[in-house]
Amino acid sequence: MEQPRPVDSMVYPRHSGIATFMRYPHIPDARGLDVVLVGVPFDTSAGYRVGARLAPRAIRHHSSQVRLHHPVHDVTIHEAIRIADYGDVRTSPFDIARTYDWITEEFERIHSFGCKTIAVGGDHGITYPILRAVAKHHGPVAVVQIDSHTDTHDAQFGSKLTHATPFRRAHEAGLIDPKKVMQLGIRGSLFYPDDLKWSKEHYRMVPMHEIHRRGMDEVVADMRALIGAAPVYLSLDIDGLDPSCAPGTGVPEIGGLSTWQAMQVIQGFVGLRLVGADVVEVSPPCDANDITSIVAAQLLFEIAAVFAVNKAR
Ligand code: MN
Repeated sequence: MEQPRPVDSMVYPRHSGIATFMRYPHIPDARGLDVVLVGVPFDTSAGYRVGARLAPRAIRHHSSQVRLHHPVHDVTIHEAIRIADYGDVRTSPFDIARTYDWITEEFERIHSFGCKTIAVGGDHGITYPILRAVAKHHGPVAVVQIDSHTDTHDAQFGSKLTHATPFRRAHEAGLIDPKKVMQLGIRGSLFYPDDLKWSKEHYRMVPMHEIHRRGMDEVVADMRALIGAAPVYLSLDIDGLDPSCAPGTGVPEIGGLSTWQAMQVIQGFVGLRLVGADVVEVSPPCDANDITSIVAAQLLFEIAAVFAVNKAR
């Protein structure tokens, strides 16, 4: 197939036209593509402040600002890989289980063509159905989760499918290799003293105070050693960032990652076998001056650039 081309921002200025992720063409068919950006506009599994269902549109809008050559990796994304905006997955705002099944089906179809995915949520619950699809094609995967919360609760109000449970459900279902799961940036007040116990026992849980104390370079080196040659999935909850960088999220926690530290983690994936990624929990109604959508759009650029440089090498 022909190499998909973005809208030329030297011909059509960045504020013009219909917004797609990073101005890539909308191609709702993954055949022949290396990577697709997929919107998952669903927040019915969020427990506190909602609004993440509106994030794919807001992030598409702000991703028009992104230029497509990465200065550190020295790669032009769409020249190294065939990448497109796949559009949005079908969702029902009234049915979590059914929506999760639709997410799994759609992502399975995409991965069945050997295409990788960058999902744009949506609340963090969507990572579980995405991992069901990813594991089907890659086996149990390593996971790097940037987050202020572990999201390993067993249930909330008796419900097993919420945005606080995906990394418990994925473990139970054998979708991930627990020895190769790293949770980065965990912090904040807890309901009970043992809220972090399950994560500490099953995963490499790196609390935010450890990152502040040791520095991100050391932590990224640990991450690369832990993941090794395994297929790895990157799940980026925007609340892993500090609320001063990303206030537009349902459950913000102070003392978090800077935008630069999040970039350091993502750039640490060069040479690793990245098979999928997501950016979740951006809530435009909770945002201030759209800063969180702008940050998310630029982090998507960072993730796409990793896919490109790994292919280009
Ligand atoms: Mn989360």
